[in-house]
Amino acid sequence: MTQEPGNYRLAGVIGDPVAHSRSPRLHGHWLARYAIPGAYVPLHVRAPDLAETLRLLPRIGFAGANVTLPHKEAALALASRATPRARRIGAANTLTFAADGSIDADNTDAGGFLASLQAACPGWQPGEAPATVLGAGGAARAIVDALLEAGVPELRLLNRSFARARELAQHYGPRIHPLPWSAAPEALSGAGLLVNATSLGMAGQPPLEIALDGLPTAAPVCDIVYVPLETPLLAAARARGNPVVDGLGMLLHQAVPGFERWFGRRPEVDEALRAAVLAP
Ligand code: NDP
Repeated sequence: MTQEPGNYRLAGVIGDPVAHSRSPRLHGHWLARYAIPGAYVPLHVRAPDLAETLRLLPRIGFAGANVTLPHKEAALALASRATPRARRIGAANTLTFAADGSIDADNTDAGGFLASLQAACPGWQPGEAPATVLGAGGAARAIVDALLEAGVPELRLLNRSFARARELAQHYGPRIHPLPWSAAPEALSGAGLLVNATSLGMAGQPPLEIALDGLPTAAPVCDIVYVPLETPLLAAARARGNPVVDGLGMLLHQAVPGFERWFGRRPEVDEALRAAVLAP
């Protein structure tokens, strides 16, 4: 099978489930806005079919794909090449297919998180104070990677399962201080940033119960949960005067490198995009 001539480009998001993904709407908005002939589609792929799918997609004209749960680790393992960041994180969310069908893997969750934080809080200086991160799952791993690379001097990592926080600390080295959930008050004291990277506070999940006393009011508070957009954590932070960063920004910014690679134009993250993704 060979790709037909023409400039119609294809990309998509591979997941199981995938129907809930906002990525088709996000990329669809950019395709329409920049009048690029192409399509970005949801691809419901089960784990046993992933390797075969990744072999066939380039042959039927796909330029690349995003990968979401539960395939991010497997996608990295199947890639021909990977960025150092994807290797460090141990997961890929953005695949680009070369002309010979080989696969370049990247992880853009880390850069997406940082870009979202910097866009919302341009005055935040990573080197000035410790950062506190809640969670040690896949998203937390990307955020830890981004914050260490940005230059945070100390990263206080709290997780319900302490062993998972300790494992991340072993992977990333001495700037990470793994802490049990009960150490939240000490972890917030003097911190320059707080990030919720757990699923707590997401619609259908238990609430995130954490007292923000002790967190300096200049510290940005980020929640990567984006359903709801204003989580109780962000509402509490806003009420006491902390700058807040919602989870939608990370989702939008992580999509930028893939779109640029597949469709040939660096897209903008702006209010029009947010509105398009949030529309009912
Ligand atoms: P994982 O399943 O890999 O990790 C879940 C994390 O939440 C773990 O740290 C887990 O702790 C913690 N957690 C779950 N339930 C509880 C609980 N009842 N009490 C305490 N801690 C709990 O998920 P991901 O890292 O992939 O995703 C986490 C969240 O981030 C999700 O809501 C997801 O939608 C969101 N997300 C947002 C993105 C964005 O672009 N804005 C991108 C990726 C994810 P433990 O280790 O103890 O189980």
